[in-house]
Amino acid sequence: MSIRIDHQKCTGCGKCREVCPGNLLQAADSGQTEITNPKDCWGCTSCLKECKCKAIQYYLGADMGGRGSLLCIRQEGNVLHWVVVLPDGQEKIITVDKNQANAY
Ligand code: SF4
Ligand code: SF4
Repeated sequence: MSIRIDHQKCTGCGKCREVCPGNLLQAADSGQTEITNPKDCWGCTSCLKECKCKAIQYYLGADMGGRGSLLCIRQEGNVLHWVVVLPDGQEKIITVDKNQANAY
């Protein structure tokens, strides 16, 4: 269980580093973010929600029924789109209005 950071997209803003409860995200010499101990990531997805550059993806391995799919989050105002990208490139999207979160 871990995340992947796309360094083609990461601007080094540091928002993800501020929210990781395990303090797993650190600034590299380049200023971009790296994960120090991927095996310690427990998949809280806080960093995904903070990253406005869509640079962080979360692995959905076989242990989570994902068979190598990747999860990312796209935000539009108060709406979060949880996007699962399947190994064949297809996308499955779950949309959640944060104002209605208690209704789910
Ligand atoms: S929030 Fe995204 S863009 Fe900012 S440092 Fe983290 S991975 Fe990079
Ligand atoms: S998913 Fe949670 S525990 Fe894992 S790196 Fe991101 S903020 Fe840290």
